Amino acid sequence: TKHFPVRRRLRDLLSRTPAVVHAVDDVSFALRRGQVTALVGESGSGKSTVARLLAQLHPRTAGDVRLHGRSTRVRGGRAFRAYVRRVQLILQDPFASLNPVHTVRYHLTRSLRIHGNAGRTAADLDRALADLLTRVRLTPPERFLDVFPHELSGGQRQRVAIARALGANPEVLLADEPVSMLDVSIRLGVLNLLQDLKERLRLAILYITHDIASARYFADETIVMYAGRMVEGGDSETVTQQPAHPYTRLLISSAPDPDRITGGGGDGTAGGERGHGEPPSLIRPPTGCRFHPRCPHAMPRCAAELPPRLTIGDRPGHWAACWLYDPATAAADAPAAPDA
Ligand code: SF4
Ligand code: MG
Repeated sequence: TKHFPVRRRLRDLLSRTPAVVHAVDDVSFALRRGQVTALVGESGSGKSTVARLLAQLHPRTAGDVRLHGRSTRVRGGRAFRAYVRRVQLILQDPFASLNPVHTVRYHLTRSLRIHGNAGRTAADLDRALADLLTRVRLTPPERFLDVFPHELSGGQRQRVAIARALGANPEVLLADEPVSMLDVSIRLGVLNLLQDLKERLRLAILYITHDIASARYFADETIVMYAGRMVEGGDSETVTQQPAHPYTRLLISSAPDPDRITGGGGDGTAGGERGHGEPPSLIRPPTGCRFHPRCPHAMPRCAAELPPRLTIGDRPGHWAACWLYDPATAAADAPAAPDA
């Protein structure tokens, strides 16, 4: 859970509301090695905040982040330090994340040194650098070592950012919209590279995206977020082909073309943005199910009670936080769950 304080001037305007933004509430899931988990939602759904919490860039309001069961509650403690080496973040904009005055060699060397992976001799370092560039398919490596970020294409820069993350020898990659700023024609190549690294290095990858169609293509498991909460999860095929939560259905029906992995433009202009109505304010989020003001199936109970995660059908691991799937709802002869 992460709540941000509201800046003072805004708080004054909204003096009768609690002075926090409920950016992330009760989000809980597990990442596994050799698996991609997609976290899908509109901009403002809290997915990037989840990435920053997992990268330990800011403290949590409540809850814990564990690696191999070890808590990272003590910031700066031993388990925390082990965690931040093992969990690496890749950002949306590779231009912003690479320092323009430094070469590729500098960025990669720094990562290798910080994480103790540079070896002892100059020859060790050269081998490690060549290995990183080869892993992200920037070959021959010597062609890329002494160039500056502006001399590279967007796709090449993102590969350098991935290589830098690999310099830490991570177990987990957090990839926040890793291809949404890239040209449509090169997105697939970067996603295929991540897929390949997942298999070869047995990485756990969290793939954050507004583009649910790309989640089907790229992720083993898909989690959908709405207004700071998880609303549906399961294997990607099931969630994208037989979505249960009314919000997931809206997200899929408003995506521009579900068979393309290209999605919309940036975070703010995606197809998922064009639903009916707007995401709610997270300063005073809707009571009960946060989707109820936009939901075509809303019942009186939806505004009053927060729906728990309810198991859907016979697909193991498929769940939705929606009262439609509560047996008691069905018994009360409420509107039937919409067909897949
Ligand atoms: Fe719609 Fe109610 Fe389900 Fe929320 S709990 S998605 S309002 S039916
Ligand atoms: Mg974002």
